[in-house]
Amino acid sequence: MLIRVLGSAAGGGFPQWNCGCFNCEGIRKGTIVAQARTQESVALAAHSDAWFLLNASPEVRQQIEAFPSLHPRSARDTPIEGILLTNGDLDHCLGLLSLRESQPLTIYATERVWRGFTEGNVLFRTLERFEGQITWRPLRLNVTQPLRLQDGTESGLSVCPIAIPGKLPIHLDGLVPDPEDNIGLRITDQRSGKVLVYLPAVGAATPGVGQAVAGAGLVFFDGTFWSSDELIEQQLGDKHAEDMAHWPVGGESGSLSWLRKLSQVRRVLIHVNNTNPLLRDNSSERGQVETAGVEVAYDGMELSL
Ligand SMILES: [Zn+2]
Repeated sequence: MLIRVLGSAAGGGFPQWNCGCFNCEGIRKGTIVAQARTQESVALAAHSDAWFLLNASPEVRQQIEAFPSLHPRSARDTPIEGILLTNGDLDHCLGLLSLRESQPLTIYATERVWRGFTEGNVLFRTLERFEGQITWRPLRLNVTQPLRLQDGTESGLSVCPIAIPGKLPIHLDGLVPDPEDNIGLRITDQRSGKVLVYLPAVGAATPGVGQAVAGAGLVFFDGTFWSSDELIEQQLGDKHAEDMAHWPVGGESGSLSWLRKLSQVRRVLIHVNNTNPLLRDNSSERGQVETAGVEVAYDGMELSL
């Protein structure tokens, strides 16, 4: 399986347009050792001609241009065979509206996430210009299905969605939460049997999270916040990481102490918020992560499994 990190930052990206925090200001001024990042999305393929995107970020156009394997091969074409959504956050879905240039698209999403994006959304009509512009393939919890090419043939990859503690997208706040609101993806390469697990939003440590990573060769994991009170400490808000359904990485009960034990698995933190000290290549927090054998994703990172 070929894997390319298109974007590695949490919502807002790094730097975030309206943020003057230590990191955002530092990268603008060149006073910190760090690299800018677009909002989280990953491309993967069983072979180099048929790609699937995990989430569609608001920066999808820029991300496609930065990766020649996703460029069209003829006058009107895309090697993107499908897009999988892990939840309904706008930083995961807004990119769909940017892919509106009369190109047939296949979207894999749970019914909850798909309804949340399409119902009552007049802008979605731009993706319904002609019959068959969008094919929605429902993801059902714990049910494995092949990822298909646009022509219906199997790609060599399969997906199994797992419920992961999370939250509703902000624009649907107030609805009754559902296990389908936030999922992790287990993607299996059917030839090698190797498994990639994609968990960009993990709200809490639960037995389900442990089951989701069982047998994986590569895990992308929620790296949004280093500490629970990161935003409060930097006077950027009054919410804790857990209030936003993100398990912080650092501290005694942080995800790093859990990830450290998965020493046989390649572990990569993704969806990193611009306030997170992990973004600074020379921070002590980055050192702690690297000592534990865990990597921090960056835009353009390429992996294989
Ligand atoms: Zn910032």
